[in-house]
This record gives sequence, structure tokens and C-alpha cells, in this order.
Amino acid sequence: MDDCIFCKIIRGEIPSTKIYEDGDAFAFLDIAPVNVGHTLVVPKQHFKNVYETPDEVLQKVMTAAKKIAEALKALPSDGVNVTINNDSAAGQVVFHFHVHVIPRIAGDGFPLWHSRRPYNEGEAKGTAEKIMRGL
Ligand code: 5GP
Ligand code: ZN
Repeated sequence: MDDCIFCKIIRGEIPSTKIYEDGDAFAFLDIAPVNVGHTLVVPKQHFKNVYETPDEVLQKVMTAAKKIAEALKALPSDGVNVTINNDSAAGQVVFHFHVHVIPRIAGDGFPLWHSRRPYNEGEAKGTAEKIMRGL
């Protein structure tokens, strides 16, 4: 895609610090890391988000993300977040599907969930039914 920043990175038109590349996936350091080593794994082909990415491409990208998660053990890290933001409300800013692989340090303070609450009476069952209708 012509005006996509990640497509430009994959084509080498914008510099990046490349970590990994295979036939389907490309991985590079995030320009503004949560922690040092924060890596983005993307399909080489442009897809907007998880919904639009074909299953076989998702598999390839997630396999690459797992490889990178394991390799990040070479850095100071006590754990790793493997996350995907889909659509603006979920924090997606770059609309080329990407997986964040983020090394975590105990006590680094990166807020994972803003707030949580228990389900009200009957709410979990009704919610599960709605989700299952979409499967
Ligand atoms: P999103 O919020 O869309 O899930 O994440 C996009 C990520 O891309 C952000 O973490 C941001 O720092 C990173 N990013 C945006 N522009 C560039 C860039 O030009 N180069 C690199 N390496 N990362 C970028
Ligand atoms: Zn793209």
C-alpha cells in the first residue's frame, strides 16, 4: 500500500531496525518502545487488522512473534506481552496489522488494564450467548 508507513518500512523506503524477516513476516523495533526490545511483527502483505488478515497469514505472523518472544529473553525481561490493537478505540494507530512483542520488567509500571469489574448477576451468561452466536 503506497501511503502505509509499515509497507514503506518493509520496502526499505523508511529506515527501521530489523530483527527478523521470512517469506511472510517482517519484524522491527518499535520506534517508541514501552521497554527496550519492544518489537513489531507484521505481515509483508498489507492487511488492516486482525479481521482482514487471512488465517494462514496470522499463523505465520504469530509463529514469528513467538520466535521473537523467546529471543527477547536475551534482554533484561521478566515476562512478555504479545498484543494486537484493532481499530482506534482499541489503540490502533497504524492500520497495517501488527503484533506487539513487549518485554516486561517486574515493576515497570506499564498499565495493562485501565479498570476491571466483576459481571453482574446473569450478565456473563447473556454475554457468552451473544459471543457464541457470532462464532
Ligand atoms: P498501534 O498503536 O497501532 O498498535 O502501534 C503502532 C506502533 O507503531 C506504535 O507503538 C509506534 O511507536 C510504532 N511506530 C509508529 N511509527 C513508526 C515508525 O516509523 N517506525 C517504527 N519502528 N515504529 C513506528
Ligand atoms: Zn501496509
